[in-house]
Amino acid sequence: LSFAELGLDPRLVQAIAKQNFEKPTLVQRKAIPLALQGQDVLCKAKTGSGKTAAYVLPLLSGILKRKATDSSPFTAGLILVPTRELADQVFKAIEEFSAFCAKDIQTAKLTDNVSDAVQRSLLSNVPDVVVSTPARAWHSANASGLSLDKLQYLVLDEADLVLSYGYDEDMENISRTVPKGVQTIMMSATLSSELDTLKGIFCRNPKLLDL
Ligand code: AMP
Repeated sequence: LSFAELGLDPRLVQAIAKQNFEKPTLVQRKAIPLALQGQDVLCKAKTGSGKTAAYVLPLLSGILKRKATDSSPFTAGLILVPTRELADQVFKAIEEFSAFCAKDIQTAKLTDNVSDAVQRSLLSNVPDVVVSTPARAWHSANASGLSLDKLQYLVLDEADLVLSYGYDEDMENISRTVPKGVQTIMMSATLSSELDTLKGIFCRNPKLLDL
């Protein structure tokens, strides 16, 4: 199976080719089709498995599809990560994957080292995708203009770490604020003890990919 056969927007396939990814990794082959169908997914995936592309590509593809008929700006995707370093990596990956659709995909990264004023100005451009820690995202939703009312995709990367870092309450708050129909994609290196907590927080019954 090739990236082109997964059903992704051709501009993303072009960007993937530019990065010399020859074929999708296991987690990408399994998660991308499910995510493109709109399913909630909880996937066991470690760093190095290609997990970032496994959620970023279907999220961007969905946004591009919508924008073909509806270009109204709103934040459609929120990606929550445990650390600033991971936020940097994910942000960079999104920039690379959107190389051929840069005008259609605006991304903002919210982390603790950025002032409220700067965050407010980033958010005033209404980014399609926001990458953030749970604490910063919840703070921004209350204090610096992050609007979650039209959110379509909620991603939790390194979910096991997010939980162990004590972000439960922020995630519960976010989960209560986003629209009921939001699609959730969660990546976790382990699935055992986190599973029930995640299901509880998001009130969802995701398709489990225990690879
Ligand atoms: P991740 O697991 O998302 O942290 O990705 C690990 C590394 O693998 C990153 O440097 C990606 O650029 C790279 N990568 C992701 N998917 C592929 C692929 N299908 N083929 C080759 N490299 C990839």
